[in-house]
Amino acid sequence: ERASRAAAPLAPGALADGTPVPLLANLGSVAGAADAVRLGAEGVGLFRTEFLFLDAETAPTASRQQAEYTRLLAAFPRRKVVVRVLDAGADKPLAFVNDAPESNPALGLRGIRALRRAEPVLRDQLTALAAAAAATEAELWVMAPMIATVEETRYFTALAKELGIRVAGVMVETPSAALIADRILAAADFASIGTNDLTQYTMAADRLLGTVAALQDPWHPAVLRLIAEVGAAGAAQGKPVGICGEAAADPLLAVVLVGLGATSLSMSPSALADVRASLSRFNLSEAKTLARAALVADGALEARAAAASAAAEIV
Ligand code: PEP
Ligand code: MG
Repeated sequence: ERASRAAAPLAPGALADGTPVPLLANLGSVAGAADAVRLGAEGVGLFRTEFLFLDAETAPTASRQQAEYTRLLAAFPRRKVVVRVLDAGADKPLAFVNDAPESNPALGLRGIRALRRAEPVLRDQLTALAAAAAATEAELWVMAPMIATVEETRYFTALAKELGIRVAGVMVETPSAALIADRILAAADFASIGTNDLTQYTMAADRLLGTVAALQDPWHPAVLRLIAEVGAAGAAQGKPVGICGEAAADPLLAVVLVGLGATSLSMSPSALADVRASLSRFNLSEAKTLARAALVADGALEARAAAASAAAEIV
């Protein structure tokens, strides 16, 4: 009995009132795909392509990339797979993209900024992704990291479409992108909020530095207010706003994020079960109540406590 129960397909992520909240996996390798599916991932919300090439001295060829992406997409037939183009730089330097040392790499040439200066690498990657999508049944979405401006958004989405990508969006990881999310989303098919970097840049606290770890808390209302901006822009334009940073893996914060307008959540697969259970306890208006309580708190700890006490009154 136990074995058959374990084998039953997991229900898709949803709130108590049936509002769907697709629960997706963050992956850094194709090897993790089978586990993600077993743990109930409905697709992939963030595939970190730079992890495929961290040790590469030279840029991977389009054909090698196409083979990798085809294996990834084949593991998710008829499912959404959101692939991020190379986020090279800062905590993830790639030898073939980041060639000059910087004194402040988190504020330097990383993500889309670095890729623009290495445009042949970006073109090869987009070409390989489009070819892999054409050869499989997965629904491929492609997004760019470290977007700060509308102009970068237009550059990326235009190039992606030119090279055969059907759905092109951006990550919201900078306060700039969040504050002008309405303008950014007008130039993109979707947004996905990277709360790790969004928190780092909002709080001006290096995500790798233990001495400022207390500031690196996505519960901080400053971060939540930026997320609310993006959620509102997405709702106004009918465009998806996912969350793919670690914040989505916190079961209570996941409810708050949906209350702020997130339409899907992506996380490491081990977190899926707890987040699924938590979402199923609240309807959408209750999620918004939790979000409102957190938004007006004085700090991260207070925001969590306010959401927890609002939740305790509901369930
Ligand atoms: C993020 O910044 O939240 C994110 C998902 O990207 P990464 O952690 O890979 O920088
Ligand atoms: Mg990031």
